[in-house]
Amino acid sequence: MPSCPRRNCVPVNVGGVWLGAGHPVVVQSMTNTDTADVNATIAQVLHLARAGSELVRVTVNTDAAARAVPAIVEGVGRAGFTTPIVGDFHYNGHLLLKKYPACAQALSKYRINPGNVSIGRKDDDNFRAMVEVAAEQNKPVRIGVNWGSLDQVLLTRLMDENARAEQPRETREVMLEAIVQSALLSAAAAERYGLRREQIILSAKVSGVQDLIAVYRALGKSPYALHLGLTEAGLGMKGTVASTAALAVLLQEGIGDTIRVSLTPTPGGDRAEEVRIAQQILQSLELRSFTPQVTACPGCGRTTSTFFQEMAQQIEGHIRERMPAWRSQYSGVEELKVAVMGCVVNGPGESRHANIGISLPGTFEEPKAPVFIDGRLFRTLHGEGLVQEFIALLENYVASHYVRSEEVAGTLSY
Ligand code: SF4
Repeated sequence: MPSCPRRNCVPVNVGGVWLGAGHPVVVQSMTNTDTADVNATIAQVLHLARAGSELVRVTVNTDAAARAVPAIVEGVGRAGFTTPIVGDFHYNGHLLLKKYPACAQALSKYRINPGNVSIGRKDDDNFRAMVEVAAEQNKPVRIGVNWGSLDQVLLTRLMDENARAEQPRETREVMLEAIVQSALLSAAAAERYGLRREQIILSAKVSGVQDLIAVYRALGKSPYALHLGLTEAGLGMKGTVASTAALAVLLQEGIGDTIRVSLTPTPGGDRAEEVRIAQQILQSLELRSFTPQVTACPGCGRTTSTFFQEMAQQIEGHIRERMPAWRSQYSGVEELKVAVMGCVVNGPGESRHANIGISLPGTFEEPKAPVFIDGRLFRTLHGEGLVQEFIALLENYVASHYVRSEEVAGTLSY
């Protein structure tokens, strides 16, 4: 079993959502609307929150975006959501945070990139100004080091030291060390400038899987909560697989207190896909449960019809559709396990391990489909209405096995 998130890191409260120190790993996402477009941004934040994003970040890159932030936070609240909104600041963050105190106040966290400054030297004034606003507003900050904009003074010093070493390391290793040091030096500077340790989250933007693992293993020894994500993971399958490969290794080691899957969106694609993938990574690692899991066999020569694949799809679709209502009515329903198997070889066995499972007849098998509930044969279904009958049994199972909870209905916001 994977270990829990590092219990020895300092917990951080982001607008009521706790990170680190044994709290469940938090799923977050980011909008890609123009933040200055209040209505479009509210709509996307709500879409991401409904999908299960527990924090949503918006870019704050212009005066218009900074002016829009309070209205966005208010609009999200008016829709009944408490999802904390995080502001993503870059080069002009120090100006925007000072010029728009209502924006600084409305956000639950600031993400700042200490890149292009050398901590401790004269040009870290902008970094310092942002940290001071966070200290004043009592907001947590994510210090996100980006390897594309590393502290050049630090990097040059480490390169020079390496060149003088008896056994110089590879350039890549020195770069990775510079990323780690940059994050840690920035965090130490933020503490000097007035932030408490429980207001600091660290991240490092790295796009190679092995590089990310190396950097986060080093950062994992620090006392700070960690935001974990593979940057520029890429499009579609490549992005999903690369993110999963990197995050799974680190999460298994207890490294990472909040995660984001950064997929390059396809034109017209669903932004919430990154939320569902992040949830699925955590659920597959058994770190959290978000939605009932449907186990379906891959099919083989024993299932020459596509009936069982269609049935698995219909059941998954039904669960997805019903989940918002189930989640608010039935406590623990996200732990439900459903099996849809294609024939008698593994079907009955696998179905028995699920809470409710069905084993369909394979080619040339007798046309009957035994349903197992909590490991026991419950009923055998036949004929054309089989899918609807199974879905009715599934609904009954949920209604009779999970506690109706008014309190759950009152506290869950998506
Ligand atoms: S359960 Fe049956 S149909 Fe499905 S993969 Fe296994 S042998 Fe093939």
